[in-house]
Amino acid sequence: MNTPTTTQYAASAAMPLQLIDLTLEYPDGEGTIKALDSVNLSVGAGQVLSLIGPSGSGKSSLLAAAATLIRPTHGLVIIDGTTASDLNDAQMTTLRREKIGIIFQQPNLLASLTAVEQLMISDHLRGKPLKAAKVRALELLEIVGLQDSAKKRPHQLSGGQRQRVNIARALMGQPKVLLVDEPTAALDNARSESIVKLLAQVTKEFSVATVMVTHDTEFISLTDSVATMRDGALGASELVGV
Ligand code: ADP
Ligand code: MG
Repeated sequence: MNTPTTTQYAASAAMPLQLIDLTLEYPDGEGTIKALDSVNLSVGAGQVLSLIGPSGSGKSSLLAAAATLIRPTHGLVIIDGTTASDLNDAQMTTLRREKIGIIFQQPNLLASLTAVEQLMISDHLRGKPLKAAKVRALELLEIVGLQDSAKKRPHQLSGGQRQRVNIARALMGQPKVLLVDEPTAALDNARSESIVKLLAQVTKEFSVATVMVTHDTEFISLTDSVATMRDGALGASELVGV
């Protein structure tokens, strides 16, 4: 197969996320389902790309491949200049921990931990000292507007607040790439808007490259560009924002 090689694509500090000719097939009985079909996509530092498209068009598959959670059938995922497909599983896990923040629709917080502990534990798992983790966790909670909720557990927080904890937690590892799947699916309109605004804000503030999958097109004007998926293929990306 004509797989592109690393050397063909220069590492670009300004493009923390590059997907090149990405194809992903899932086994399906005797045959396969092509969830991604030769996708090419780059997202720059400080940019939010909205990814829209019908259900089953491959949006979550694109995020899973970009997150290095699934190896593509063909093509390259390049994170901050490192080609993921060149790495073994252990190296890929390290790359994911150090460079990628993942935010799914359901915040998936641990019921027994306070907001600040949710953030600290993610740094602790990276082998960072607890004291430094706590300082950074409190800073991030302030950035997402939860400075007064650091000691609250998930059941004491609203859905929007839980999603803010989720966003702060994804930023703990100082990622270069943020991958966000339907962050507002469980929220009302006002809260959805404030979550998209927050994602745009932290994307700029921390110079990450963000892909946000979203089903509602109402708030995509708050992001920098929009791409549409259909049957695993990406339509032309158009600039809608600044
Ligand atoms: P979207 O997020 O846009 O709804 P998905 O990426 O979830 O789309 O799915 C794209 C296609 O891949 C669909 O046809 C879906 O049924 C299929 N698919 C998704 N995940 C799997 C899987 N783990 N195994 C087999 N097929 C899958
Ligand atoms: Mg999906």
